[in-house]
Amino acid sequence: MRRKEFLNVVLMIAASFVATALVAQGPPGGGRGGPKAGQTVEKIRLLKPNLYMITGGGANTLIRVTSEGLIVVDTKNPGDENYNRLMEEIKSVSNLPVKYVLNTHHHPDHVGTNQKFIDAGAKVIALEALKTRMASDPRTKDIPGLPTETFAKDYVLKFGGAEVQAHSYGRGHTGDDTMVYFPDLKVVMVSDQITDATPIVDFANGGSAVEWTQILDGVLKLDFDMAIPGRGEPKSRADVEAYRTKFATVVSRASDAIKAGATKDQLASQVKTDDLGWQFNAAFYGSLYDELAKK
Ligand SMILES: [Zn+2]
Repeated sequence: MRRKEFLNVVLMIAASFVATALVAQGPPGGGRGGPKAGQTVEKIRLLKPNLYMITGGGANTLIRVTSEGLIVVDTKNPGDENYNRLMEEIKSVSNLPVKYVLNTHHHPDHVGTNQKFIDAGAKVIALEALKTRMASDPRTKDIPGLPTETFAKDYVLKFGGAEVQAHSYGRGHTGDDTMVYFPDLKVVMVSDQITDATPIVDFANGGSAVEWTQILDGVLKLDFDMAIPGRGEPKSRADVEAYRTKFATVVSRASDAIKAGATKDQLASQVKTDDLGWQFNAAFYGSLYDELAKK
């Protein structure tokens, strides 16, 4: 084979590999290659006796089974398909009705199908601030299913022999973060307060980088051995402690940089985070600077 022919063959093979890879990955948003991983509601999984998790279709959903009915935490992205699939999975483990829904914060991937549960007879319980923000955030104001019952800070639901607690420990991912705790199972739903990727602070909706660790301090006072993030796999107590340390490190490095004279524009370049595995954007540093400058 001459050199040029050989090169052509190599290029053809390379091109076919690229084409195969693209088909396997599938186009974003679904289509012939199928939806991207995490977009559709996945199979229900048992976490602990009477506690199940369903990933995909938005944020993680938890289901607590009691003798009198079910308690659901977070209702995924809006859409009939998500709700129907969610109920299909829930019904595969229990035929009892969903009596209560709790939301961990107002973002669309956590409250998306609330209304469907309300229509089916459930009460949606959430922080007052969550209801207010859901009604005002441009991303959620048109999603039906505002909470039907609200509380100011802490709530204890006793139902069917089970106890579920909801606690607001301050501002972090949003201004309406709610930690949902199952004391008998030693499980706490920490939602987007713990992430696998770089944390996101929704400053426009009451979020706070400076107060973030305060919420985790509240969580760490609870007796738990499993923490469920908004996305991804369950975490251990040690994972939560390590995450708290990382977040505190970012804030203290930023605070030190400002004390050393960093301006708002310079802050991003003065705070090291590569050793933490996190990569914040310029807007984050701008808001963090504002928060720290106010202190
Ligand atoms: Zn969120």
